[in-house]
Amino acid sequence: MNEDTIAAVATALGEGSIAVVRVSGPDAIERVAPLFKSKADLRTAPTHTVHYGWMVDPSGGEVLDEVLVTVMKGPRSFTAENVVEISAHGGIVAVQSVLELLLRSGVRMAEPGEFTKRAFLNGRIDLAQAEAVIDLIRSKSNKAFQVARKQAEGALSKEITPLKSQLIELLAHVEVNIDYPEHDVAEVTAGVIRDACSQVLAQVERLLRTANEGKILREGIVTAIVGRPNAGKSSLLNALARENKAIVTDIPGTTRDIVEESVTLSGIPLRLLDTAGIRETSDVVERIGVERSRGALSDADLILLVLNRHEPLHEDERQLLEELQDRSTIVVLNKTDLEGRLELDEVTRRYSADRIVSISAREGTGIDELEKAVSKLFFGGAIESADLTYVSNVRHISLLHQSKRSLEDAITAASDGIPVDLIQIDIAAAWEALGEIVGDSVGESLLDQIFSKFCLGK
Ligand code: GDP
Ligand code: ZN
Repeated sequence: MNEDTIAAVATALGEGSIAVVRVSGPDAIERVAPLFKSKADLRTAPTHTVHYGWMVDPSGGEVLDEVLVTVMKGPRSFTAENVVEISAHGGIVAVQSVLELLLRSGVRMAEPGEFTKRAFLNGRIDLAQAEAVIDLIRSKSNKAFQVARKQAEGALSKEITPLKSQLIELLAHVEVNIDYPEHDVAEVTAGVIRDACSQVLAQVERLLRTANEGKILREGIVTAIVGRPNAGKSSLLNALARENKAIVTDIPGTTRDIVEESVTLSGIPLRLLDTAGIRETSDVVERIGVERSRGALSDADLILLVLNRHEPLHEDERQLLEELQDRSTIVVLNKTDLEGRLELDEVTRRYSADRIVSISAREGTGIDELEKAVSKLFFGGAIESADLTYVSNVRHISLLHQSKRSLEDAITAASDGIPVDLIQIDIAAAWEALGEIVGDSVGESLLDQIFSKFCLGK
């Protein structure tokens, strides 16, 4: 149990006119009460009540700020401890002085993530939920926010828990067989183990399949916009970003550097890279740009190959079409506001219709179709239904892989006729890995690592 009482500013620093100081610990109410001047006495106030008054420095009687104080008694609070939240109106300076006053009166400054850590240690939330809170704080897009919120609500834990029960049941069954072979319990045959493990394995694999989508939602799809100079790459980037960060000019090859821009297309975050036109060049400065764009190309999750529909296909483009056909590439036919002079055979021969989109970057037409094509490419068009639990946390993914390997080992061992008490080790390992996701069996150092990723005050 935690004996000391901690405090931190719980709202984003520097923004908004109201800031909240959160205090948590067994003595939270007793610590704040003497500093709070009000008609109410916090010590006798019922739980979940709000009180109006002033924060006053008892040593000099100085009034620091007009505040609203909320009292939440454990275990019905975020940390399951007594919690007092002080909403200060005077902005960041006032809030800092309130925090300092608390620290002078024996409250300790909270470490990053310590509130959530206490919530976990006090059994209010499990580890997957706690980590989801981190993701919630950091999530960049709406879709990522929804996924994080679902996990915070325990969606992943709900998936993992039944799998753990299945394995525990199997383990218990195996145990009985080993310890009481003379008893009349059904024998655990290799077939029984194989079936049970295969069932769990299928579920673990299903969760892992969502991991890729989860990563994409969290970190954004790294998108390279490539094509010959003047095809309209910068214009497309601008049309997508609706901002003029990349320089658009009529002189071929003027986009020398990679310009990065983050945009959200129907809930999917894209990290757009505008690259220098890919072509043979003798200009040294431009060559650097071209080399970098080659690098960007190899790292990209998504490639938007921009072709100028107003001109015949160039040899470089023919090469790119071939080179990129097995990647996640969408061919963007630009300048459709002008007369079409590009023979499409070469494109349609290599790319299916849902990978080809016609746009006019100048007039902003076709951008919706491009959005749909991207969504379809990455999520089979099903991105709108956010019902799926996406596994998006790196630690969860590696534990699922670990569990998967142990299950596969168990299945192989069972098929090879290995004695049951040896297979038991693999099953236990698979169970343990799943348990670590929800935090049943984590060591203190791992906990510290996880919770130190939080912003202060959470
Ligand atoms: P980049 O070199 O591939 O980045 O091409 P830019 O975006 O710099 O565009 C090159 C030229 O084509 C500029 O003059 C743009 O205004 C023009 N341009 C880009 N998109 C379109 C379009 O959809 N229609 C027309 N008519 N011109 C365009
Ligand atoms: Zn450009």
